[in-house]
Amino acid sequence: MSVTLAPYAASDAHCRGRRHPEPAPAYRSEFQRDRDRIIHSAAFRRLEYKTQVFVNHEGDMFRTRLTHSIEVAQISRSIARVLGLNEDLSETIALAHDLGHTPFGHAGQDSLNECMRDYGGFEHNLQSLRVVDKLEERYADFDGLNLTFEAREGILKHCSTKNASLLGDVGQRFLDHTQPGLEAQMVNLADQIAYNNHDIDDGLRAGLLSIEQLNEVDLFREQFNEVSRLHPQISSRRRIHEIVRRMINRQVVDLIETSRHRVQLVEPKNIDDVRTTDQPLMVFSEEMRERNQTLKRFLRHNLYQHHRVYRMSAKAARILKALFKAFIDDPRLLPPGYDHHLQQAEQSDGESGRARIIADYIAGMTDRYAIREYQRIFDAEELT
Ligand code: MG
Repeated sequence: MSVTLAPYAASDAHCRGRRHPEPAPAYRSEFQRDRDRIIHSAAFRRLEYKTQVFVNHEGDMFRTRLTHSIEVAQISRSIARVLGLNEDLSETIALAHDLGHTPFGHAGQDSLNECMRDYGGFEHNLQSLRVVDKLEERYADFDGLNLTFEAREGILKHCSTKNASLLGDVGQRFLDHTQPGLEAQMVNLADQIAYNNHDIDDGLRAGLLSIEQLNEVDLFREQFNEVSRLHPQISSRRRIHEIVRRMINRQVVDLIETSRHRVQLVEPKNIDDVRTTDQPLMVFSEEMRERNQTLKRFLRHNLYQHHRVYRMSAKAARILKALFKAFIDDPRLLPPGYDHHLQQAEQSDGESGRARIIADYIAGMTDRYAIREYQRIFDAEELT
């Protein structure tokens, strides 16, 4: 299979560089270096103990944000190679895309956003960028990981206009309504393919979804019928895996073929031609897009709003809100290493600065760390 880079792919030759200039790497590409920095970051390691849908300690078999990110990287690399896109950059964006996620999945994100309402809000994509631009403290010469523009562009999938206007070059496309490079567009869809399908798998394993319910969804039913026809004696665990892998494959093939066709029509000469198009070039076919919408609606209704998930989410929200309030009322409760950041942030942004440092601390927590911290602060029997 060809691994030649297409002219419209991201490449070292057309890389827009790093915020702090560095010599080119000797034996790696610029994007390999980005990927390696992410793998060695503290925020990446913490993804192991952060939730997608199920709280981390619910069971060892469920996806975490780490395994989710690795699945997104796998799907992204496959698609990148077929389409001649930059595989290293695709992998980089995939591994970094969830670095800014709070503990407790969407429930955590929503409650932290609520806590931060008077202080500029909390957006997880923006937080992922903040992690790689500022929060990682590992290098002698700069804060953050000093990633390439292309990696940062891919990490910032969404952004409010208000925040985009404060970000400089990487926020500009949200003001101009233009597109990022193809790698960024593609990983965004690979993310959706990964979570829609693995949430089915996890939902079935947890007993929150049933095959009967899922057979209401076209994408699932088609593969269910096909697998049952080809392998009538198969065990139920293997059957689910066969169905899910075929669903992923259908979506990946659709994305590759539809996007390839789009790119051929538009004929971008380079990555800047991609960036100035007003519509994304990486897309599903209309039929697949609709089927995906149906699947998403199904999951929202039957899994994300399931009574058991709801109870867990409500508890998670209470924990984060209580922690936020405790820290904002008395910042001396923060760990000692935060003094300096707190002082600096309060000097430049007052109470909003203080709130932002607290949001950084909370967002960085793993599920179990947040639970422990809550016990340490509120449980009278915990004296340390
Ligand atoms: Mg994701």
